[in-house]
Amino acid sequence: MITLLKNARILSMKDDKIIFGDIAVTDNCISYIGDHYEGQTPDRVIDCQQNLLMPGFKDAHAHTAMVFARSAADDLPLHDWLYETIFPMEAQFQSNDIYHLTKLGILEYLTSGITAAFDMYFVPPEIIRASEEMGFRTVILATSDKEPISLLRERYLGYNKENSLISYQLGIHAEYTTSPERIKAVADLAKELHAPTFTHVGETESEVQGCVKRYGKTPLSYLVSQGFFANGGGAFHCNYFTKEEIELCKKLGIYVVTNPGSNVKLASGIAPLVEYQKAGVKLAIGTDGAASNNSLDMFKEMYLASVLQKVSRKDASAMDGFDVLKMATVGSAHVMGLKDADVLEVGKLADIIMIDLQNPAMQPIHNIPKNIVYAGSKDIVKMTMINGKVLYYNHEFFVNEPIASIYENAQRITDRLGKKKC
Ligand SMILES: [Zn+2]
Repeated sequence: MITLLKNARILSMKDDKIIFGDIAVTDNCISYIGDHYEGQTPDRVIDCQQNLLMPGFKDAHAHTAMVFARSAADDLPLHDWLYETIFPMEAQFQSNDIYHLTKLGILEYLTSGITAAFDMYFVPPEIIRASEEMGFRTVILATSDKEPISLLRERYLGYNKENSLISYQLGIHAEYTTSPERIKAVADLAKELHAPTFTHVGETESEVQGCVKRYGKTPLSYLVSQGFFANGGGAFHCNYFTKEEIELCKKLGIYVVTNPGSNVKLASGIAPLVEYQKAGVKLAIGTDGAASNNSLDMFKEMYLASVLQKVSRKDASAMDGFDVLKMATVGSAHVMGLKDADVLEVGKLADIIMIDLQNPAMQPIHNIPKNIVYAGSKDIVKMTMINGKVLYYNHEFFVNEPIASIYENAQRITDRLGKKKC
């Protein structure tokens, strides 16, 4: 199956250059990028009308099924939000709930040009079923303490197959929600499998204080002392790292995954991305869950990732818009282990989005990458292609289930969890 995307502007994200030309997709991979495609007759031709093709955004930290708690527990302190609202709602989950809710989250990703999510949530088989049925790329980060270590090993070896929409990484939810024994057991398994590890860390000041009280160390330092991150990996939020911890990130190859939307809404803090950048730490961006964000929108995250650095440092040059675009595409792909989905290049996966340059917010055309970061929104996403398949085009979904049925299921579950607000 060959799909030809012709007459486009192309931003490969290998650098900030934009070329005019065509991209051909054969099955799930990019088979041609250049001025003019003259290969085998394509099965489908999409005239891009000089709109922009670029790699899809990768959401490097998400809890997709948490759409059930969108706007169900707002304007509360973080502790009350988590322990008195979110955890009790999650305790009422029944079978298939996560499957249906994940589908709703995926629809939202598609509207924001997000072609893959690093999904930290319960019941991986339900997430996988939803992702595969929708044609969405998911990297599972299973962190439930209830799953035996042997199951984690089995899944790591079983799910990480070539040519699959699904892959799997090891992690824990957070230091403050995980026993020392479990942290050590996951670290030991990662060592055995030569695998990276991932967790929430340094999100709030009280988390840091609690860890210092428990172990005499700040959370990242404590985790490293337990062998966690021995093969690198990624840390989510990272608002409060010491100088030594920034050095540890650099030394061990730990990516900082920033979640600015969630952090400002829960008043957790601002990740000092400029400090991380200066130290040579690699950066990526995630939305976190819709319970705290409340949307799954990479445009909002990119904007905040840049402007929060500027305002907190009172320096409008503190963070460059193109660097942020790179974090949301290349950086996020790399931390998720999706090296074949980072840039547009022959042989890479066809996870491609089209940006509508005919949208007023994208006019006049001056600096397209900066326009996307500082003036972009979901409105400018014209197409989302994953694994060579167009799943969203001209604001219409091309997925396996009617949208109304996905909404209906999500509403039914949300009503049952008892937190419906009109
Ligand atoms: Zn999170």
